[in-house]
Amino acid sequence: MISENARQNSINSYVTKSTYFINTLLLLYHVFFGFLFYKNQAHYLYYFNYISILTYLVCYFILYKQKSYLYIAVVFLEIYLFMLLSVIGIGWDYGFQQYCFSFVASLLFTDFYMNKRHKLRKSTILLIILNVMTYLFMRLWTYKQPYIYVIEDTSFIPIFYITNAIITFGFLVLYFCIYSNTVLRLEHSLLEAATRDPLTGLRNRRGMQDLLSTVPNTNLPYQMCIAMIDIDNFKKINDTYGHDIGDEVLITLANILLDRHTQNQSFHVCRWGGEEFLIFYRKYKKTEQEVYLEFDELRKQIAKTVLHFNDLEISFTITTGLSLYKKNMSVEDMIKQADANLYFGKEHGRNVVIN
Ligand code: GH3
Ligand code: MG
Ligand code: MG
Repeated sequence: MISENARQNSINSYVTKSTYFINTLLLLYHVFFGFLFYKNQAHYLYYFNYISILTYLVCYFILYKQKSYLYIAVVFLEIYLFMLLSVIGIGWDYGFQQYCFSFVASLLFTDFYMNKRHKLRKSTILLIILNVMTYLFMRLWTYKQPYIYVIEDTSFIPIFYITNAIITFGFLVLYFCIYSNTVLRLEHSLLEAATRDPLTGLRNRRGMQDLLSTVPNTNLPYQMCIAMIDIDNFKKINDTYGHDIGDEVLITLANILLDRHTQNQSFHVCRWGGEEFLIFYRKYKKTEQEVYLEFDELRKQIAKTVLHFNDLEISFTITTGLSLYKKNMSVEDMIKQADANLYFGKEHGRNVVIN
């Protein structure tokens, strides 16, 4: 199983990358609004934009230092003030009040998703109430008071409004994307963990069973074979050199088999159990004799392999039981036959291929 820490780290690193991206967007966004405010001579908003740009530059440093809560607080405060000043300054028609929706989404996202809580925190509830109050206040203010700046040129209204709507909507889409992407990654890594052997990196028995389940039940339109490979006297290797060196032997064999798979994609490998490996070789265009010779050549290659550990030189051998597909055989039949052949090989001196 993938550990909870690894899972959390993978979420965090993904969220951090996305946050750098958001920060850059927010920075560019203020450059854009700075330009619009300047054009419309809304000076104090224009000056506030300078502060905002500076804030987002500092935010890169905050992100670099991985102070994510400080980052969220600074961004929250900046957008909040920017929204408030903008609505008070130029009125309701420009759509800045929509950020209240983004805030509520952000607060819910942070609490439910990033902190994996099933209950809202008190501070979150208070901030949501603050948002609702702010929204109402801005609505009342823009009813009762004349705006601070009366912008003559109303052609900018749709640009402001649509930009603000896109940003608000963008936040919601972004959260959705982060969420679904992380869920997909987690699903993938959980599946990997469930179907891979951590020591050798090969498919494990379950991974192979998934693959074998794709073979039709009878009357295959192609050739296939199952090979069961078992390391000879492995217990002795463990007992003589220790478990760690035993592990290295397993990794060496796994790498040799994986090499075969890389050269020939029909040659599927898994660690079936302890020191037993199962090869599922399908859709090959070879005769029985050629398949036998291929596995015998693998056996010889392994017998010649020497592992070096300090002054130690270790070699090992394998015994292989083969089962070649015949009409009306099921995968289970083939595994049983390969097992029986392997057993026969063990009984008859080891370091052989039996078919
Ligand atoms: P045979 O030639 O008949 O196959 O004899 P063997 O000693 O290889 O077979 P046996 O089944 O007696 O022993 C297998 C050993 O493999 C026992 C077990 O401790 C060891 N083993 C299983 N999994 C691992 C592993 O992940 N690492 C190490 N180092 N040893 C393992
Ligand atoms: Mg063995
Ligand atoms: Mg065994």
